[in-house]
Amino acid sequence: MSNKGRVVIISGPSGSGKTTLHKRLLDSPRLKGILVKSVSATTRARRPGEKHGRDYLFLTPAVFKYKIRRGHFLEWQKVFGNHYGTPKRQVLTLLNKGAHVLLCIDVKGAAAVRKEFPGALNIFIKTPSMKALRDRLTKRASETREALAARLRVARAELKEAVHYDHVVVNGRLDHAVRRLERIVLNEH
Ligand code: 5GP
Repeated sequence: MSNKGRVVIISGPSGSGKTTLHKRLLDSPRLKGILVKSVSATTRARRPGEKHGRDYLFLTPAVFKYKIRRGHFLEWQKVFGNHYGTPKRQVLTLLNKGAHVLLCIDVKGAAAVRKEFPGALNIFIKTPSMKALRDRLTKRASETREALAARLRVARAELKEAVHYDHVVVNGRLDHAVRRLERIVLNEH
């Protein structure tokens, strides 16, 4: 695929803080007009404050399945019981406009996008330690003990995938991680 813009993938285990970093990058004045968001589709329930079309396209499982069959997604995955997918047409349209398109997706989804876009910029986010990851996951009120154990198990496996990425950013101090990510994207621009 030849496009003007570039796909920028942010990935990492659940609890790495990648969603927060992704939001900070999209709000960054230094990246305004350079980096745009890909809005994913999901079957999970909307959380308070989330908006359809801005945070996600919130779809029913039936509609999501229909879109899978129609080849609507660049990649899709089941992540902790819900389906998530990257709409293909949206990404291609943005790339053709010359934008760098930011995807914040799980590790398996990232591997699938890398196959389709070998020129993608791949950034892996991780916490300074497993203890920091456990602490972050524990703070999430929605996690049961079983869910926490499952996420830690998955995270251990996902950390091994970091070798396939162009950059690994340790998310210790949030501001430092944001600056580092801004520099990475600007250097590639
Ligand atoms: P959350 O439900 O907390 O917003 O996201 C849960 C997980 O799904 C996160 O790891 C997030 O990065 C991932 N995710 C969000 N959108 C997509 C997508 O389009 N594709 C894939 N593979 N993962 C996604």
